[in-house]
Amino acid sequence: QVRVRFAPSPTGPLHIGGVRTALFNYLFAKKHGGDFILRIEDTDQTRYVAGAEEYIIEALNWLGLPFDEGPGIGGDFGPYRQSERKEMYRNYADTLIKSGHAYYAFDTSEALDAHRKDHEAKGKTFIYNWHNRLKLENSLALSSEETQKRLDNNDAYVIRFKTPENESLPLKDMIRGGMQIDTSVLDDKVLFKSDGMPTYHLANIVDDHLMKITHVIRGEEWLPSLALHILLYRAFGWDAPKFAHLPLIMKPVGKGKLSKRDGDKMGFPVFPLQWKTAEGELYSGYREDGYLPEAVVNMLAFLGWNPGTEQELFALEDLIKAFELDRVHKSGAKFDPDKTKWFQHQYLQTMDEGVLVKQFESYLSDKGISTTKDLGVIVSMLKERATFLEDLWEQGSFFFEQPTSYDEKASKKAFKEDTADLFTELVAKMKAIDVFSAADLSSEIKGWITEKEIGFGKVMMPLRLALVGEMKGPDVFEIASILGKEETLTRIENAIR
Ligand code: GLU
Repeated sequence: QVRVRFAPSPTGPLHIGGVRTALFNYLFAKKHGGDFILRIEDTDQTRYVAGAEEYIIEALNWLGLPFDEGPGIGGDFGPYRQSERKEMYRNYADTLIKSGHAYYAFDTSEALDAHRKDHEAKGKTFIYNWHNRLKLENSLALSSEETQKRLDNNDAYVIRFKTPENESLPLKDMIRGGMQIDTSVLDDKVLFKSDGMPTYHLANIVDDHLMKITHVIRGEEWLPSLALHILLYRAFGWDAPKFAHLPLIMKPVGKGKLSKRDGDKMGFPVFPLQWKTAEGELYSGYREDGYLPEAVVNMLAFLGWNPGTEQELFALEDLIKAFELDRVHKSGAKFDPDKTKWFQHQYLQTMDEGVLVKQFESYLSDKGISTTKDLGVIVSMLKERATFLEDLWEQGSFFFEQPTSYDEKASKKAFKEDTADLFTELVAKMKAIDVFSAADLSSEIKGWITEKEIGFGKVMMPLRLALVGEMKGPDVFEIASILGKEETLTRIENAIR
């Protein structure tokens, strides 16, 4: 049974990279009929941000990636918030101390800083491991009596992992293949902190084991931790899950990782939902910017993965079918905001038109507009040129509001000396049309223009300006028929008044 987890730390809003990790976990789980678990890794209390957990859950729900177990809904392996599992980690740290895989370290931060400076002065990086742990004031240099005395004395300590010396450790990643690492370059990482909380490394491994996680799919930034994690599994005597590290997401232009500031600098969101910091800074979100979750999901899927075919449009169910971890690439994935707009345009065209009409209706009512016009006809006429709901308004506001002015340049071209006379005749012609349909209007008016031998532009241009206010929009007779006889005549009369 495949079991994967998405394990964010609630240190702020979930950015595009985090959501991509969630999506790939979800796709992998569903592809294999497995479970997708949400675990909140909140052991670092100094980095906890209020509202972040709610944000994460809301974002997953908006994107349509429901989890099978997690905070709020529970499951057989809960609780799913690490702060609520706090008590249990201590025992696991103690187990490692007893088996000789971990030790108490009493170094003060001043002592550690001094060592670090000392190394830097000599042009070396300070690694806390077997090379120098004996030179530090920690318990490996202390006898067990001395250690006990320090403990009894309530001296502050941390528990560190005792990295094995000079070992060539094989590592395996489902995307990157096999690697080898020399354990001499690894730090003795802290597993348990002086504040009584486990570090990420300990809690993460303990929970993945207890929650029976079979595959760990996470961002490339965790690849440097893989060796320690493998060593921890070995020290506990547990089977390790399989690992897959997803490629970094890179800036759309230039070099480097996409950062949360890039979006606002370049005018596109890097967060699924809007987020307001405690300091009042506002980051825009895909949802609030009018994107459909389907478009965002499709865009995210292509950040590091491709189906190996020309197909680009994938509904979630199609993604589940097509997704393979071995089609995820190693190299960084360039983030492309324009491509996201392209996906959005595509999904607006294919979304259920009834739903789109409903959304447009409430968009209009937010503007204080209620209408008896057939919105279905209007929406299907306009949507081809729309990417967002508000584009429907941009393209078609004239259906609901009379023009208050006419485009200056176009007026000069369209409104001539004889326009008023032509319009008076046109009004009379239109009044006589019984069924005010685009077809009847077209044949009647075109017939009349041909008869008069005046050229179409002389009537059609000013007519469009009178109805729309500028030289845009769909077929002018379609517009007139949707506006209806009365409204059309009013607008024509307004134009020559
Ligand atoms: N809590 C870690 C994070 O915030 C989880 C890393 C992992 O998946 O192991 O990304």
